[in-house]
Amino acid sequence: MNFQGNFRDIGTFDVSELVALVNQLPQSEWDKQNVRQKRYEVHKDTQFIGIVYDEDFRHQNGTRHEMLDTFGKALNPLFAKVAQYYESAPDIMGKFGRPVQGYFIRVSLAKLRAGGEINEHKDMNFSLAHSHRIHIPLITNPDVKFNIAYESRNLKVGEVVEINNRRVHSVKNDGDEDRVHIIMDWVFPWEPCCCSDKTHPDQPCTPQNCLMTDRLKIPCECHPEDQIHDQAFSNAISGT
Ligand SMILES: [Zn+2]
Ligand SMILES: [Zn+2]
Repeated sequence: MNFQGNFRDIGTFDVSELVALVNQLPQSEWDKQNVRQKRYEVHKDTQFIGIVYDEDFRHQNGTRHEMLDTFGKALNPLFAKVAQYYESAPDIMGKFGRPVQGYFIRVSLAKLRAGGEINEHKDMNFSLAHSHRIHIPLITNPDVKFNIAYESRNLKVGEVVEINNRRVHSVKNDGDEDRVHIIMDWVFPWEPCCCSDKTHPDQPCTPQNCLMTDRLKIPCECHPEDQIHDQAFSNAISGT
């Protein structure tokens, strides 16, 4: 989801139980789901465990995987914290004018190997453009940098942070330890994207209505403070 700013601080969470569970995972669990790093060059240095996940990046009825049995109990208070935050965030509630319930469409563990990187990209499918992408570091080190547009941050263990995945972002782990984050995507049904008023007024966001803006064929100029950094990237992907 695009929003004003690069990082949105939601709070902190005691992740010690989650860290202990991750440390108990055998490497074989990380090796099971290797579709993502094979399919996307940008994920070549990552490994991934889907807890709620579908390869088709659907926007509702996410598939719960067996890893939820292991992590569910420790994750529940984190789910509740994030839900409570969004369901009472004034700027988001202002879009609806009434209380709305959301849900998690994806929850996963993502490892970035020591020395690895995720190259500059923007998230470009409908569900990623219409959900709130939240990162919570479980294992990290001072030499991991999360870069969004003009801003670079070293996210600390237990920070709960939404990242603006519609701006150019990249990650680099210059430490000598693998980095592990929880990544969760929070959805409010029918929450409009930033471009909706402009490109399809009075119609809801749908994969069809938003195709051109999701793919950035129609440039998004909704939060102009970021335009300078974005322009070079937009030109590069559109071939101009
Ligand atoms: Zn926009
Ligand atoms: Zn939209």
